[in-house]
Amino acid sequence: MIIGIDLGTTNSLVAVWQDGQPRLLPNALGDRLTPSCVSLDDDGSVLVGRAARDRLQTHPERTAAVFKRYMGSNKTLRLGRREFRAEELSALVLKSLKADAEAILGEPVTEAVITVPAYFSDTQRKATRAAGQLAGLRVERLLNEPTAAALAYGMHHLDSETRFLVFDLGGGTFDVSVLELFEGVMEVRASAGDNFLGGEDFVTALVELFFTRQELPERLRKEPVFMQQLRAQAEAAKCALSSQPTATMRLWHKDSDYALQIGEAELEQACAPLLARLRAPVERALRDADLRSSELSNIVLAGGATRMPLIRRLVTTMFGRFPAIDLDPDAVVALGAAVQAGLKARDRALSEVVMTDVSPYSLGVEVSRRLSAHDASHGHFDPIIERNSPVPLSRVKRYHPMAPGQTEMHLNVFQGEARLVKDNIHLGELRLVLPPGPHEESGVDVRFTYDVDGLLQVEATIVKTQETSTLLIQGQAGGLSEEDIAQRLQALAELKIHPREKLENRTLLARAERLYEQLRGDAREQLGMRIFAFERLLATQDDRLIAPQRRGFEQLLDHIERDSFLNGAPD
Ligand code: AMP
Repeated sequence: MIIGIDLGTTNSLVAVWQDGQPRLLPNALGDRLTPSCVSLDDDGSVLVGRAARDRLQTHPERTAAVFKRYMGSNKTLRLGRREFRAEELSALVLKSLKADAEAILGEPVTEAVITVPAYFSDTQRKATRAAGQLAGLRVERLLNEPTAAALAYGMHHLDSETRFLVFDLGGGTFDVSVLELFEGVMEVRASAGDNFLGGEDFVTALVELFFTRQELPERLRKEPVFMQQLRAQAEAAKCALSSQPTATMRLWHKDSDYALQIGEAELEQACAPLLARLRAPVERALRDADLRSSELSNIVLAGGATRMPLIRRLVTTMFGRFPAIDLDPDAVVALGAAVQAGLKARDRALSEVVMTDVSPYSLGVEVSRRLSAHDASHGHFDPIIERNSPVPLSRVKRYHPMAPGQTEMHLNVFQGEARLVKDNIHLGELRLVLPPGPHEESGVDVRFTYDVDGLLQVEATIVKTQETSTLLIQGQAGGLSEEDIAQRLQALAELKIHPREKLENRTLLARAERLYEQLRGDAREQLGMRIFAFERLLATQDDRLIAPQRRGFEQLLDHIERDSFLNGAPD
């Protein structure tokens, strides 16, 4: 069985193709969304999901979130005494989703389709593939998130001929794709996006608003517990504003009580610079697809952040029509990944469906332009694969050395749209030794091959000798080599994973501890006593006693959360 995974910045989901349709699989807590958070518990075991998200506030030094933003970079995140790369943290999330799928399907799962932002670079894609490997999953396909959303949407419209745009604003990334559906063939015409724009940035904008309005001292930024609590309040206020006119961010620190009530208009104002950034990728995708917005039959929303009414209003004004609301924006990418898993498994129900995708950015090499016989201008970008070319594809271009007698050629590979390479992303370098002889004869054919996963292979052939070198981009721009992966696989295998069957109780305790830190006075003391009583009950390991108490405890926490924080009611 191949599973489909939406590995999100904020939340992740797993789905399968079953009985002719995609189906979401809940985690051990019965939730469809698993927060992409990892924490080391006090006993050293690994917690993934909701419990880890709660520990972000109580134990920020042992917990990590939003690590998808660092995929493929050399940045490490510290959890307790250990350092983890984003690939390893993602692997722990993937492992947890794999275990959830196995528990429901009752069979081992070893293959997966994993979605990535369309705008993810080659390095970030390779990092995602490595994360899959570290989780014990063979990545059957890396699927662009908006393409996945389109697959889920297209499944319901297979008999129509339609052009639509997917507007995908997740926790950390923004992707736009324009698609055409015709006789079961779903063709991505163009993709564009921003890898550093998502719901998390709206939270940051609210955190900044809080700092300004409350005139908070700058030193508070260095206090991780305070900052995590403030972020959580900002996140809760942002989501509350999706269904109510005002929300309050409130927190206590030492002896001070801070509260700020905001309305949607203030959220919109605070986020104006972010909203402005949503326009350019939409315009670029339409221009590349050679379509006007009036030629689209529908706008499909994907990503949790499109739940914000201000985003929906913006989409409505941008396109002059309301977006489609029949698909759940949180689930649509995972459902599409399951459709792709069904396509991979050659399911009969999907035999008529064909999906084609594009490369969302241009790929090329650095060249020098000759100004005169003795002078040249360096650092220019020469695209070999233009953005939004259908994939898979292979293109070859011939290059010549600049100077007579040149013995070496450095081939620097870049990704991006800028004219000068300094403004694009460096992917890797290939050094070629040129044969002696007249320099007009020492041409090099550079072949770029871009596969359906969005991974690039570069090959350079010296024309005269027909000698070929291959560029291994992996390992150049922060990626992991096969050797690194083997080593890290070993290290991850040694980590103790918190047992699934005990996760529900552990998650409840993590939530209670988070709320305890936010309360004061009698309410705090009472909650402290309930936590202690629940811990003692857990020590009995008798589920007949634990289960009814757990429900009561959960209700109490719901009550505390509803009353004293979001609505700003007094404690
Ligand atoms: P995703 O990566 O698709 O899971 O999207 C996660 C992002 O969606 C996070 O930034 C969430 O804060 C945001 N989000 C989820 N639900 C809501 C909501 N009801 N209102 C506003 N933002 C939301």
